[in-house]
Amino acid sequence: MKKVLHISTECYPAAKAGGMADVVGSLPKYLIKQGWNTAVITPRYKLPWFDQQVFRNVYSGSFDMEGQMTLFDVYKAKKGTLPYDYYCIEILGRFDRDSIYLNEYGHGFHDEAERNVSFQRSVLQWLSDKKNKTSFDLLHCHDHQVGFIPFMVKKVPTFESIKDIPIYYTIHNGAYNSKYPWGRLDLLPKFDATDSQFIEWDGFIDASAAAMRFADHVNTVSPSYLEELKDQLPSMKFMSDKEPKKFTGTLNGIDNEVWNPKTDVLLTNKLTTTVDQFKKVNKGEILEGLYRLDGIPLIGFIGRFAHQKGGDLLVPAIERILVRFGFVNFFILGSGDHFIEQKVQELRDRYAERVACFIGYNETLAHKIYAASDFIVMPSRFEPCGLNQMFAMRYGALAIARKTGGLKDTVVDFELGGVGVSFDYDSVEDLINAMSRAMHLYKDQKRFKKLRSKAMKLDLSWDKSASEYSMNYKRLIEKMD
Ligand code: ADP
Repeated sequence: MKKVLHISTECYPAAKAGGMADVVGSLPKYLIKQGWNTAVITPRYKLPWFDQQVFRNVYSGSFDMEGQMTLFDVYKAKKGTLPYDYYCIEILGRFDRDSIYLNEYGHGFHDEAERNVSFQRSVLQWLSDKKNKTSFDLLHCHDHQVGFIPFMVKKVPTFESIKDIPIYYTIHNGAYNSKYPWGRLDLLPKFDATDSQFIEWDGFIDASAAAMRFADHVNTVSPSYLEELKDQLPSMKFMSDKEPKKFTGTLNGIDNEVWNPKTDVLLTNKLTTTVDQFKKVNKGEILEGLYRLDGIPLIGFIGRFAHQKGGDLLVPAIERILVRFGFVNFFILGSGDHFIEQKVQELRDRYAERVACFIGYNETLAHKIYAASDFIVMPSRFEPCGLNQMFAMRYGALAIARKTGGLKDTVVDFELGGVGVSFDYDSVEDLINAMSRAMHLYKDQKRFKKLRSKAMKLDLSWDKSASEYSMNYKRLIEKMD
């Protein structure tokens, strides 16, 4: 059985900041079904999950980074902790924090460069050390945080022993990148100076450009996002023009075992009888204190308050819908931009009987909102794949989504034969129009329920996409053999 190691800074349930954790936590599980032996490695954070597991130290090492010794330990979780082997790297001072990326003010940690590069170097040092008996047939790197790995594997003499391992690189969000000035070159281990041209883009050391150049295969998390990125990211355009076959778009799936309304351990009220009853009891639980009547729709929003997610469009659009329709409730769960957080709270204060919000990150509440909602709104400016719309459909909430990236690939408008409400522009007006269409659809309960039941039956699981990854892995391994 061939072995694949997923290298990532997130993995659900160990450490989650967004959709990448869902993907890294579930794809390896579905790859096992495709005949792969899979494993995941992440940093070891000071998050509750890590304290609850039993780990065994399997390797200790050190290296010099910018003139300072970095010490690290590799731990392996007890068999059965997750459905695949799980490793984590401990680097004291760098990762033993109770947050994955952000400090208490919501800003990226000041030592993000040291954190990302030391994690990558530790993984490679462990893998390339002949004393280490654990080996893999393919490395799958997730996003720019581990984007120097393809270059380091192929060009750094210290890692010579693993230079022939094929490397897969997945772009979960092309808007984020690790870019450093040349003064930070000593973060990386020594390599032939003439190779430094290969990690350069626009005058910087650029992890994403280096990854696209040196990975054996690159994919984005939806086909539409691949095309959009080619327009938006000059490095992607350049590399994909040179090697078009190397770049593909594979839609994310969802973990049907975690996201199952009948068995979801985070739900107090699981789906046991009818969907109407399921919605009613879940609304009852989370809308306590709100004005409720049977037949009032609930529209939910779950996500980061970032420009990408269109959080700034939400408040003015919701206000118009509240004024126009009266009978509608909203639940907003999210955090990020403090200005949007404040606007959401002000909206809740103005419409306390019809708007609920929770500012922060709360996994359990997210599950409950999907279960209670009739619609989930996603006014994203761009969306590499988006998972919320898929979780929502599985829990009987239709998506109101902007036609971009993965949303374009997964949400088809109900007037065009689909089961969602989609809209074109990232404007307050278009969002109002879409929500208003959703309100009218909800009034036609017969039609709404038919669409809802169709949405709940869609196969959104990883099976299809995992077989696409599997096929690509096989091709790369055969090429190297
Ligand atoms: P992204 O990774 O860009 O944030 P995705 O749609 O790919 O967006 O995935 C977001 C994931 O994070 C989903 O699992 C969603 O339910 C979850 N999520 C986002 N914000 C919150 C929050 N405030 N509380 C709980 N879960 C959240």
